[in-house]
Amino acid sequence: MLFGRGKKKTIQIADKKVVNWTYTTCGYCSTGCSIEVGTNAEGKTVASRGVGGADVNRGKLCVKGIFEHEIFDAEGRGDQPLIRDNIHQGYETTGWDDALDTMGEKIRQIQQKYGRDAFAIVSTGQLLTEEFYTLGKLTRAVIGTNNYDGNTTLCMASAVSGYKRSFGSDGPPGNYEDFEHTECLMAWGSNLPEQHPVIYWRLQEAREKRDFPLIVVDPRVTMLAQNADIHLAITPGTDVVLQNAMMYVILDENLEDRDYIEANCVGFEQLEQEVQKYDPASASKICGIDEDTIRNVARIYAKAGSAMSIWTMGINQSTHGSDGVVGINNLNLVTGNIGKEGGTSLSITGQCNAMGTREWSSCSGLPGYRVLEKPEERQEIAEFWGVDPEFFPKSRGLTETDIFPAIETGQIKGLWLIATNPMTSMANTERMRKIMEKLEFLVVQDSYADVETTQYAHLFLPAATWAEKEGTFTNTERRVNIVRQVTDAPGDSKSDLWIFNQVAKRFENGKKVKFPEAPADVFEEMRVLSKGRLVDISGMDHDKIEENRGIQWPYTQEQAEKGEQPPQGGKRLYTEPGTFRYADGRAKLIPLPFIDNNEVPDEQFPLWLNSGRLVEHFHTRTKTGKVGNNNKYSPIPFMELNPDAAIEMGISQGEYVRCVSRRGDAVVMAMLTQRVPKNMVFIPFHYHDCVNRLTLGLLDPHSRQPAFKQSAVRIETLENQEEAAQLSMERRAF
Ligand code: SF4
Repeated sequence: MLFGRGKKKTIQIADKKVVNWTYTTCGYCSTGCSIEVGTNAEGKTVASRGVGGADVNRGKLCVKGIFEHEIFDAEGRGDQPLIRDNIHQGYETTGWDDALDTMGEKIRQIQQKYGRDAFAIVSTGQLLTEEFYTLGKLTRAVIGTNNYDGNTTLCMASAVSGYKRSFGSDGPPGNYEDFEHTECLMAWGSNLPEQHPVIYWRLQEAREKRDFPLIVVDPRVTMLAQNADIHLAITPGTDVVLQNAMMYVILDENLEDRDYIEANCVGFEQLEQEVQKYDPASASKICGIDEDTIRNVARIYAKAGSAMSIWTMGINQSTHGSDGVVGINNLNLVTGNIGKEGGTSLSITGQCNAMGTREWSSCSGLPGYRVLEKPEERQEIAEFWGVDPEFFPKSRGLTETDIFPAIETGQIKGLWLIATNPMTSMANTERMRKIMEKLEFLVVQDSYADVETTQYAHLFLPAATWAEKEGTFTNTERRVNIVRQVTDAPGDSKSDLWIFNQVAKRFENGKKVKFPEAPADVFEEMRVLSKGRLVDISGMDHDKIEENRGIQWPYTQEQAEKGEQPPQGGKRLYTEPGTFRYADGRAKLIPLPFIDNNEVPDEQFPLWLNSGRLVEHFHTRTKTGKVGNNNKYSPIPFMELNPDAAIEMGISQGEYVRCVSRRGDAVVMAMLTQRVPKNMVFIPFHYHDCVNRLTLGLLDPHSRQPAFKQSAVRIETLENQEEAAQLSMERRAF
């Protein structure tokens, strides 16, 4: 009998009764998928779909994008400003005028009493670029604090720092199209299928058409590692040793590209001297990769006609994060793999607009990759904004990860958090609690009133989210894409741009400096300021960006006027000798001595603790934790534990255990899997009061990014499983 013949049911796609589809760009990760959101006759958002003609995703979306229309009316949205005198009282609702007058007054009081820098501002990678630019103007030209940063320090600071050290500027030189040209791809600490599923699909499509070796460096057997030709299960935090040893082999066997080095680089002799100390036999004892494999991988990479490296948090979130990025750049420079098709160093960014904040927020200086340290750049921006250049600091202030310790020591008294949730995202939760309690005044500006950090706030400002407003994002491959407004923000919540403009009015300088209200007018300021810079967007405007489903920068006014079509902009950076951003036009080869400064497992805490992302969730789950189809697949935190280690410890699948570090403990469910080796556990970072109760978060000396992925823990079994499950749940709900 033929099974089911004649009775087979076809898949029915529910008719959502969409009457209008609006083009926009996904608001989760930096892949930058073009997405259309469908609204029904009542104006309710009911569906999302990928855009077929968009080069990035070619019609695809991941599980987050598919349900993104559900975030607009998810639970917990803030719809009115909330205020209270102290954090032990309940909040009261208030109007915007009162909220913003209070905010302006409190900031002034703190600055008058303790100095301008005693009030700090920490934002995000989630705002629109026009909003980042406006916040930078407000901070640098109006409020005037130098302690200003974004939560991108937790994810991308090492990439920024590494690019600047090697090439003289931030800015990823490659793009996704390089997958279609490369002859070898090395992925360093990047689990694309879970972190950036659509980039993974682009990579797999390229591999199916044209097989080329995929080498994955990761201590875990991640999904990407399972699909790799070679998996290097490296000892956590030792990537620099592997990079130096690969370089040792390349130079020893004369596999370097001498012509490229001579035309493009300085510092070769110093690099050569340093890598002599990393012969593969000695290096293997530190990085855990055997000598022959190091030699093999080095030869494959150097002999490929073109080779590229991608990386994510496995490199960045380390005390050697910036060095790890420089090490990747060293490898690519020595082998002539920058600025050519399929040869590049491509950092896979995290948040949807982490690139936008890097380019335009002025967090690390001034807009358009300008820096505070150069008087001519301070002068140029001061003139453009109409302020005294002396109002600007002459060097960058504290990063996010130094701002919190400065609150602890009393140097900073007030804080404005914008779309970031440090109570879940920062290392060492218990220490963070004490720090937040010390603040004299905390403003939390967020789309969600139930974000954990509001426990410590005096003022809550409800903000619009994603496509409730209009503006641009820049993705991993420098593609500027448009977010069109799909629906209105709930209640009395306002766009972040509106809030920044209104705050500006509460300060003396804010009355002098122009703050355009329309996002397109803000873009016009950025467009003018970008002329002649690396990040030149002067050929773009909002409509042209939408027409082309995103345009990569640089795309200049001259290119636009010449009618260069299609205006895809700059596919690659540094394609010609002499174009690196140092004064001599050359890239720097930088020697990288390895110093083992991490917390490492010992007798008391014998296991490595690793943390990372899940495909269903984004960051601290403020959005995905409210979307049924995201939340139901990963509703609770868990801990990956090797089955052999579990047998030795007497732990069964699904059992709750206590994971303990020198900072605190987390109660989690054990999931037995060979994805982790016997000496390691892995806990996703999305859940409140969980893995970051344990993490140490030592800082990279260059980027100040925390080493979330290298801490030491032990496991304790728990007698009463019901109590343990209850405790695990209670801790997550605040
Ligand atoms: Fe959105 Fe990233 Fe998923 Fe694309 S891959 S749909 S940008 S979350």
